Amino acid sequence: LSDKLEATFKKLAGQATINEVNIGIAMRDIKRALLGADVNYKVTKKFVEDVREKALGEQVVKSVSPAQMIVKIVSDELTELMGGENKPLNLATNKLPAVIMVAGLQGSGKTTFCAKLAKRLKKNGKHPLLVAADVYRPAAIAQLKTMGDQVDVPVFSIDAQDALKAALDGVDEARKIGCDVVIVDTAGRLQVDEGMMAEAESLKKQLSPDEILFVVDAMIGQEAVNTAKVFNERLDFDGVVLTKLDGDARGGAALSIKHVVDKPIKFMSVGEKVDDLDLFYPDRMAQRILGMGDIVSFVEKAQETLDLEKTRTMQTRLMKNEFDLNDFFDQLQQLKKMGSIQGLVEMVPGLNKMIPKQDLDGLDFKPIEAIICSMTKAERQAPEIINGSRRMRIASGSGTKVQDVNMLLKQFKEMKKMMSSVTKMTKSGRKIMPQN
Ligand code: GDP
Ligand code: MG
Repeated sequence: LSDKLEATFKKLAGQATINEVNIGIAMRDIKRALLGADVNYKVTKKFVEDVREKALGEQVVKSVSPAQMIVKIVSDELTELMGGENKPLNLATNKLPAVIMVAGLQGSGKTTFCAKLAKRLKKNGKHPLLVAADVYRPAAIAQLKTMGDQVDVPVFSIDAQDALKAALDGVDEARKIGCDVVIVDTAGRLQVDEGMMAEAESLKKQLSPDEILFVVDAMIGQEAVNTAKVFNERLDFDGVVLTKLDGDARGGAALSIKHVVDKPIKFMSVGEKVDDLDLFYPDRMAQRILGMGDIVSFVEKAQETLDLEKTRTMQTRLMKNEFDLNDFFDQLQQLKKMGSIQGLVEMVPGLNKMIPKQDLDGLDFKPIEAIICSMTKAERQAPEIINGSRRMRIASGSGTKVQDVNMLLKQFKEMKKMMSSVTKMTKSGRKIMPQN
């Protein structure tokens, strides 16, 4: 974490105390990182104010810099805000079976989560029964059955379209066949609506579950917060399951939801497969949110200056490692608007360490542009085809020397290599949570 934020805080290096000035700079960057990670604006604002206050009162320990100190305060505070530690399921109950009710919008990942949870519980020596209380769509029941088969856990369903009966009969069935945990998969709608809420409420009343888990798709961003709020008002659920954190989701939803409903996030789902379930660890999520900071501020700066569409395409190509000399040329034009390559390099985490400064100083735009202009489209797409005779043709076409062409190709190759390792780093940084 300190590593990734190093660039953000280097402005503070060498200053002995946390004061209004350095905390101001740090907080501006942190605010940007949080907003970029999709944390709710109000939450961000409050967070930054709290940290500012805390940090100002802190004595700086001799051996650490104010920057390191602020990073520590920020990540501790984030962790605390998201619940401190992982909060386990509450299945301690003297009535058997224990009942877990799973609620949330349609498509949030409830059914998938139910199967994953069943698998996890089974591994921990429990005997779960999956109950299909999403009785309106035959496909929903079939899906639960398929997933139940995958994790080798029995699935109970009824033919009637009566969620309450399905759930209650399911509990009876569990008793009969000796299951000690019932996981009730409920129906969701695409949007919060009264019918769904009333049904969930009556399920809660009749079943009195030991644990109600609210499942929410982290990719829906700010909307996740509103949905969580409504569900919490009606169901007063016990915990949150954040899903689809394997996708583009930036994790900010975790912070916002915890702040708004003050319920622990207990699990996170990171894929479609039945093994892709992790316990939620606030400290790791804090790192994920902060770790995105530099990349995020780059994207933001780029968005301010550049054509939005182009930037998006560039980012995707970068991530997929499809970046070629055509893109590079395009980027050069854009970068001229933005500032320097050095600026870009400083904003991408890790890149500043990998690329020596003098290499950048050697990058003069004009000859580069000329050289790329003298290449054919195919050559730009696949620079590896540029052999000796092509190099000579390009050099004479651009009024440069073959060495210049060689140099550019070499630098581009290096750059691609770096970008791909940064991409890998970023990707692994986003998936720091181990499977457990
Ligand atoms: P439900 O309507 O709430 O029961 O949601 P489902 O469990 O049917 O999931 C909806 C879709 O999201 C399915 O295609 C799942 O495979 C997918 N899905 C669920 N959880 C995750 C996850 O953590 N990551 C990804 N990428 N997809 C998920
Ligand atoms: Mg479902």
